[in-house]
Amino acid sequence: MLEKMSVINLERVIEDFESMTRDAEMVQRETLRKILEENGNAEYLMNLGLGGRTDIQSFKAHIPMVTHGDLEHYIQRITDGDSSPILTGKPITIISLSSGTTQGKPKYVPFNDELIDSTMQIYCTSFAFRNREYPIGCGKALQFVYSSKQFKTKGGLDAGTATTNVFRSSQYKSTMRAMQSQCCSPDEVIFGPDFHQSLYCHLLCGLLFWEEVQFVASTFAHSIVDAFRTFELVMEELCDDIRTGVLSNRIADPSIREAISKLLRPNPQLADLIHEKCSGLINWYGLIPTLFPNAKYIYGIMTGSMEPYLGKLRHYAGDLLLVSADYGSSEGWIGANVNPKLPPEQATFAVLPNIGYFEFIPLKEAGGDVEPAPVDLTEVEVGEEYEIVITNFAGLYRYRLGDVVKVAGFHNSTPELRFICRRNLLLTINIDKNTEKDLQLAVESAAKVLAEEKLEVVDFTSHVDLSTDPGHYVIFWEINGETRDEALKDCCNVLDRSFVDAGYLSSRKVNAIGPLELRVLRRGTFKRILDHYLGLGGAVSQFKTPRCVGPSNNTVLQILCSSVVGSYFSSAF
Ligand code: AMP
Repeated sequence: MLEKMSVINLERVIEDFESMTRDAEMVQRETLRKILEENGNAEYLMNLGLGGRTDIQSFKAHIPMVTHGDLEHYIQRITDGDSSPILTGKPITIISLSSGTTQGKPKYVPFNDELIDSTMQIYCTSFAFRNREYPIGCGKALQFVYSSKQFKTKGGLDAGTATTNVFRSSQYKSTMRAMQSQCCSPDEVIFGPDFHQSLYCHLLCGLLFWEEVQFVASTFAHSIVDAFRTFELVMEELCDDIRTGVLSNRIADPSIREAISKLLRPNPQLADLIHEKCSGLINWYGLIPTLFPNAKYIYGIMTGSMEPYLGKLRHYAGDLLLVSADYGSSEGWIGANVNPKLPPEQATFAVLPNIGYFEFIPLKEAGGDVEPAPVDLTEVEVGEEYEIVITNFAGLYRYRLGDVVKVAGFHNSTPELRFICRRNLLLTINIDKNTEKDLQLAVESAAKVLAEEKLEVVDFTSHVDLSTDPGHYVIFWEINGETRDEALKDCCNVLDRSFVDAGYLSSRKVNAIGPLELRVLRRGTFKRILDHYLGLGGAVSQFKTPRCVGPSNNTVLQILCSSVVGSYFSSAF
């Protein structure tokens, strides 16, 4: 339907959302029935004895909750070319690669047209609510989007990251047009073979269309921060290109060169203007609205592992509004941001009850031997935390996503979720338990000490070092300049003291966990890590810095350890 649409009727989108969320329980029941009807003949469901039943009770009684590991051999058969109904009624022809930052290697998950449909539904829903508050005019979007390399699996299926599969679909283009959100850059830039060349050209295209840019976006906010950090370094070169009408030699890809040559003409006035505007800035504060004065907001996922980039993003944004984007994964979308006025730290996601069947494992009672039974979408309680379990239209049944969310409230009868963190613990040696969120809070506290030195943390990660006795936490920091050893020592002490988990505190006091170590990295280390993930088939659009690097993630650990320029041990305890 969306494909033929030229302009979206936003009021209608909102009405549909309102009516669907009024009886989310019934919509969930119907959605599960539809999924099980379409896929009733799948080997997986048959073997588990579902016998064509489509009701919630039978589904829960026969189908166990699973993780990716449990499904790996089924997915392997699909990627190897077995087109019999294995997980789905209709054969799967496309595979998505999840960003795989947690495990160090991408996971394969089935992808199909229904996932594209739900992606478009999510995009349109949040856009309708956003545009009601902050309408954009006709124009373009400066979107830092990148496709990953696509390849064929052994069985001949197309494989790429979920964002790549979406960007390649015809529906994506038509929906973006209908949402007045067409990218400034030609396709050759988005699908270019080299991320660094694509990034440079996204910036260039944005500058060429500077008056038309209505908003600046990316899938994850990290890409926006990275883009404007790069802008600081290549501004002169971009201005030269615009002044002379000749594209920099750094762009080697012939298809990108040809596509850009159609847009680039000598324009010395524009080059002077950019130069003049930038030279009026103090430390690049407010860069984005200075370059794109007609932009209404900045849009991208800013929650979860993106929160650490908010400070820098706000710096570039000046007084331009930040709107946090929707919540989903390669395994399927979950919720749309229908409260665009909330600041990113408070962003919530209203679950769309027709895009999958959702269950929630209560974490309140977790910790015992028996895991509490999951509750349904409309049974969750405000203020409580849950792990999400997804059943989708692409062959995942009761799949544990591994994300922890908190119920912030309800929109009609569907919950509005706040993303908390990944469920797996990052840092644990004995009785200590620290999550990604705990690490982020510790880094935020210590970064305040660094800010007194007029420096900032560019990016960070962590590692549990068990090669020492006792083992200890290692925090890796890339910072944007040099500073005194005393200041870094202070930062290290603050980091150590900021892990307030009782298990950590007591272990530290009796030296069952050794002093925390802060290792400072050479500039550019996290760029090398990003390049490493891109080499594995990952995409910048889905990149999330791994916040903890385990011993199995050898290459990344080596990159980190070979880039250390200074090491400090805590004396906080
Ligand atoms: P991927 O593996 O690339 O499909 O990434 C999916 C994961 O990214 C999710 O399971 C979440 O952990 C994270 N994620 C996606 N959307 C959001 C969001 N809006 N806020 C926080 N984290 C998110």
